[in-house]
Amino acid sequence: MSDTPLSRDDLVDLDQDDPLAHYRDQFELEEGLIYLDGNSLGALPKAAKTRVAELVEREWGQGLIRSWNTHDWISLPERVGDKIAPIIGAAPGEVVVADSTSVNLFKLAAAAVRMRPGRHKIVSEPGNFPTDLYILQGLEAFLPGEIRLETAPRERLETLIDEDTALVVLTHVHYKSGELFDMAAITAKAHEVGALMLWDLSHSAGAVPVDLNGVDADFAVGCGYKYLNGGPGAPGYLFVAKRHQAAFRQPLSGWFGHAEPFAMRDDYQPAPTIKRGLCGTTGVLATGVLEVGVELMASADMALIRAKSQRLGELFISLVERHCAGQGFALASPRDADRRGSQVSLTHEQGFAIIQALIARHIIGDFRAPNILRFGFTPLYTRYVDIWDTVQALANIMATREWDQPEFKTITAVT
Ligand SMILES: *Cc1c(COP(=O)(O)O)cnc(C)c1O
Repeated sequence: MSDTPLSRDDLVDLDQDDPLAHYRDQFELEEGLIYLDGNSLGALPKAAKTRVAELVEREWGQGLIRSWNTHDWISLPERVGDKIAPIIGAAPGEVVVADSTSVNLFKLAAAAVRMRPGRHKIVSEPGNFPTDLYILQGLEAFLPGEIRLETAPRERLETLIDEDTALVVLTHVHYKSGELFDMAAITAKAHEVGALMLWDLSHSAGAVPVDLNGVDADFAVGCGYKYLNGGPGAPGYLFVAKRHQAAFRQPLSGWFGHAEPFAMRDDYQPAPTIKRGLCGTTGVLATGVLEVGVELMASADMALIRAKSQRLGELFISLVERHCAGQGFALASPRDADRRGSQVSLTHEQGFAIIQALIARHIIGDFRAPNILRFGFTPLYTRYVDIWDTVQALANIMATREWDQPEFKTITAVT
């Protein structure tokens, strides 16, 4: 690429002109650490530390049970949902925070197939994020003879979407390759045959522009702990388009989704609003911390985030090609930045050991079996100069075979 920077200073210059640069200071990031894994676990917003102290000491410690009312814990799921809504192109009242992405996917997929009686298929792609496929397999096993999961590689996916399809479930940005689906086109294809569309936005929200209502999506789920910086194990969220809410009945009919949870009646009556997506008691501490990450993300201009993310990715690819040529790497992400989320993946047969060697140098990416090295770019805190430093370290690790040490080859429980 003709505009590949020649020196570290070129990247320092880009940081100086970066309109998002000031956001970095709002995160707790150790000096000398390069964090390229915000796509897996976002960094800690400094404001989350004060918020958690306040939640624990004042709201829980002093307020105790009264805080459900006095600190409005009871409306946390909808309040944080409404703050996520603009990040994903949803309207107020269409998003609620609850449970995990896996659980939310089960609730929505089960509700969706009930809204298309007589149809037998859920369509997805092989290689989708494992939990998505596992949850759909669980639903299939739960409704034997009624629902089956069928998958086809994305080139042939459309041939599978037919009149027998109740629901199409896809992840917008692929967790391994970072490849983006054309949300508008696939949603339209599903609707053309009368099927419903459910998008998993785990690697999208806060990373790429998403316009759920613009593409007429029916359902969506997503993760709170990735680009939304909600903290480890933060709750997920679910979206149900307004037009479906009255017919939407999810199977985990717990009391928090009841129209009047504190009327303590025997019979379940779903809340008239998106609250019917809830099941049990809100994880107040986790949801309160997620709110901080969401507010920070919502305050940033998505057009700037996308532009910087694409630039970071392009610089990374061109620098790897220049400085690590002949070292056995191949690009596992689309080269075209418009077809890529906010990560670049490489393949290498020694991928695991190479990632460990980078981590030993305080450069944190991650590895996904069997051979993917993932580098996530989070424009709110990744600096341009981080890209230069990462590629130089990678080139050095390869040139000196630094990765080829036993300590970098011990497979850990979490990669
Ligand atoms: C991260 C991720 C999840 C995580 O699901 P949990 O229930 O939070 O473990 C699900 N789907 C996709 C596509 C993801 O990237």
